[in-house]
Amino acid sequence: MWLLIDDERDLNIEVIARTAGAGKMMLAAGVWECVCFDHDLGEQESGYDVLMWGLEREYIPSRVQLVTSNPVGRKNMRAALEAAGYATCDGTNFTRSEKPDSRIAQGDDGCLCQGCGKPYMVDLIIPDNLWEEIKPSGKAKGSGLLCGKCIMDKLEGRGEFLAITCQKE
Ligand SMILES: [Zn+2]
Repeated sequence: MWLLIDDERDLNIEVIARTAGAGKMMLAAGVWECVCFDHDLGEQESGYDVLMWGLEREYIPSRVQLVTSNPVGRKNMRAALEAAGYATCDGTNFTRSEKPDSRIAQGDDGCLCQGCGKPYMVDLIIPDNLWEEIKPSGKAKGSGLLCGKCIMDKLEGRGEFLAITCQKE
């Protein structure tokens, strides 16, 4: 089951805690598959406080999502998660592998390039029709992971002039 700790969002998640206190109670009570955190809970304690409280007590599962749109809050929560051994590809979805090195072996779990097999940090988004041409073979429509270098190699390999604009989200 998933848990959302958020004072106002309604996401399609099984259990929603609307306050920091309720969030702590739910963290302590259950074994959660994934916990989604908002930062500003409209009271003294923030999502960051709840996250820290849970990390100290090992109540936070190996999957965490940040749903806050507060950039400072997000940055602090990300730093806390990374300090606790969580990794993220996009700053939103965090995973902690049970063993430090298992992410490298697991492939699909992290941002591991399915072309060269190396981990990567920059997720390059290209137009869907181009992705279908260059994606790793055997992957479903829109799926597959390639690092920026492999994407560029494959695009260069098409032998056609092309302009792609990147914008940071
Ligand atoms: Zn690659």
